[in-house]
Amino acid sequence: MRVQKIAWFFLLMTILSQASIIEQKRWPKGETLVGFLSKHHIPTKLYYNLDREEKELAAEIRAGRKYILLTSAKGRIEHVLIPVSEELQIHIYKEDGKYKLRFDPIYYQKIQDAFSLSMQHSPYIDILRETGGNKKLANEFIAAFKKSVRFSRLIRKGDKLALIYTQKFRLGEPFGVPTIKAALVEARGRKYYVFNYHDRYYDERGNELEHFFLKRPLRHVRITSGFTRRRWHPILHRYRAHLGVDFGARRGTPVMAAGDGRVVFAGRKGGYGNVIILYHGQGYKTLYAHLSKIRRGIRVGRRIHQGQVIGYVGSTGLSTGPHLHFGLYKNGRAINPLQVVKIAKGYLSGKKLREFRRLVAKYKRELKALTHNPRAPKRVEIVKRLVEYKGEKDGKS
Ligand SMILES: [Zn+2]
Repeated sequence: MRVQKIAWFFLLMTILSQASIIEQKRWPKGETLVGFLSKHHIPTKLYYNLDREEKELAAEIRAGRKYILLTSAKGRIEHVLIPVSEELQIHIYKEDGKYKLRFDPIYYQKIQDAFSLSMQHSPYIDILRETGGNKKLANEFIAAFKKSVRFSRLIRKGDKLALIYTQKFRLGEPFGVPTIKAALVEARGRKYYVFNYHDRYYDERGNELEHFFLKRPLRHVRITSGFTRRRWHPILHRYRAHLGVDFGARRGTPVMAAGDGRVVFAGRKGGYGNVIILYHGQGYKTLYAHLSKIRRGIRVGRRIHQGQVIGYVGSTGLSTGPHLHFGLYKNGRAINPLQVVKIAKGYLSGKKLREFRRLVAKYKRELKALTHNPRAPKRVEIVKRLVEYKGEKDGKS
């Protein structure tokens, strides 16, 4: 198994280099990659030599994230692994006495778990009990049903709940946010479903169950680089990712808030230059990067309305031309903002609806099996090997 291989790799490294030290640390608030490098006497050109997309990716390192540091007995850094997303990490290592930097895939296991239960208290408490305290999962479940079911009024003791979800594990520890694939609440003889389709929740008829919709942040949009979580670049022989969409626009073009929300960050952030981050509720955040200017009065805590001008297009944090990098995050995980802009009508139709219906039929069978046979095998394990590159839809980059 991959996870074990990685563990063995570190164990081996430890033995080989005698008395090396492996530490797991948390990334400090306000720390940038350049700052980190110079602090540890690693040449900062490792950062400056990165290209535009990689610099953006380096700006995705989040405060509080766990990273791994392997130092020799003499206190010199041998390896550093810093996650930039759930898929990729920055790997700094020594080769022929020189420091190198590259983006490596994060090896993880994705485990699908499914269970059903008879409710005793509330869906939240019952899920915590069933999963040994998985708060992220319980929160996600409540959020998914928020629009369709009022649990406090509807649920009676003995009503049924069934849930299929996946969780990633790295080095034996869960990481990232669990993904609910399908869920069922059977209350007072009625069934309420939630199905996940491209990171959004729908009822069984394909109607969207979320309130959150985005507007484009620019009046005229020209996409210069699309969204991709992880991709192997066949010519550069490197892993790449672009956790947002780049819109080409002239310097000074007004940038508008994509949705109602509150400012949670406004200032400089590594390769993103001048950045504004808005929180929209329900776990959603949007990010606007490389701004030439942040509009006066836009500061942390300020309420913002959809369509309000918050800043102006520029090229801060970068050496190439002016553009807007626009990112969307759900519970800290980058998702494709265009998905949310495009399907803003709130329901599925055509080809997407047909695909969705097939998915619904499959999950309904699985959920039914869960509620009818409590002794049915609950756990399915999927080991995902990230080395085997699976194409993900790219933009024009
Ligand atoms: Zn970008």
